[in-house]
Amino acid sequence: MQPYRQLNAPIYRASTVLFDDFDGMLKRMDQLYDGYVYGGFGTPTTRELEEKIASIEGGTQSLVVPSGLAALTHTLLTFCNSGEHVLVADCAYPWLKVFCKTRLSKFGIDVEYFPSSADSIASRLRPETRVVVLESPGSYTMEIQEIDTITAEAHEAGALVVMDNSWGFGISNMFRHGIDISCVALSKYASGSGDLVLGSITVKNDVLYKSLKDFAACIGAAVSSEDVYLVLRSLPSLQVRMSEHARRAERISAILASRPEVDEVFNPALPTSPYHARFKRYFRSSNGLITVRFKNNSLSNVRRMIDGFSVFGIGLSWGSTHSLLSFSRSSASRDVDKMPEGDYLVRFHIGLEDFEKILDDLNRGIDRLSLDHDEHR
Ligand SMILES: *Cc1c(COP(=O)(O)O)cnc(C)c1O
Repeated sequence: MQPYRQLNAPIYRASTVLFDDFDGMLKRMDQLYDGYVYGGFGTPTTRELEEKIASIEGGTQSLVVPSGLAALTHTLLTFCNSGEHVLVADCAYPWLKVFCKTRLSKFGIDVEYFPSSADSIASRLRPETRVVVLESPGSYTMEIQEIDTITAEAHEAGALVVMDNSWGFGISNMFRHGIDISCVALSKYASGSGDLVLGSITVKNDVLYKSLKDFAACIGAAVSSEDVYLVLRSLPSLQVRMSEHARRAERISAILASRPEVDEVFNPALPTSPYHARFKRYFRSSNGLITVRFKNNSLSNVRRMIDGFSVFGIGLSWGSTHSLLSFSRSSASRDVDKMPEGDYLVRFHIGLEDFEKILDDLNRGIDRLSLDHDEHR
């Protein structure tokens, strides 16, 4: 028969992985880091994705884990011991902060938050500081930390630096700026369709990789080869999708900034952003996320605007081809950054639908905001 060939690798599904003989099974754990032991510890499908992610991120190895949040929590649980200290940028993913406050504290790990726009963390580092967690840009308010300086300071103090690189996936190489570990929500642009939840942890050396792999194995962080395959299928279009999302978001940011109802547009790719210089240093380009603070941003005004969009869906997450919006009270998840009280920020993810329709939907939404309902003026 004619040999069969196809474009994409097949999906390997397994709980059971078979061994050739007695010794194969006896010595199975020798294969944990670069072979196959048990489906939950990896299959050729997960290994293929891990290699691709490591190359996109510029690290040596990657580990695929059940979610972006799991990438962060597994990293902290792997490297932190009781009595140690962790520094976290205040703009970090809110559920990571919930984890730090309600779970890490139970293990006697002291977590402290530092300003999202930090130039330096030197004064906060302690002998027992084990990990510093950065998120640049913060996924609502787009602060960018001074990564080069912070990684040098942390290393001097013997701490590891972890970057939540969900925003910068595919458009940055954080390892060139001293990061030790990069955590990414593959649920966003890597999947590109809003239909799965997956994360990755990428490291700069084998020692870190082995520690993480040991932890993932014993905590049971198994992923579905089916979901992994869907991400593999989306990666070839990652760069083209992201540059189109970014091009659209930049155009829309400029249009939004010119509307009188808009107080501030948060997008580091805008030359007017206070983080634009850092953005240019740390990222090759941007993506489709824009956050807006409207002038009349009381709850009732924002509600009137949001209830009425047709192209934009209302929902969490971003990075799919769909236009989405979500909102957040900026002060709700901040511990040290000063945010105005009762301030609702609206975050738009600019999708790949017909561009004129997206623009029209947005403009009509802002028109609803400016309707003269004077009870809240
Ligand atoms: C979405 C997101 C996460 C969490 O990823 P999940 O895969 O949804 O768990 C973490 N950090 C950032 C910055 C995110 O945007």
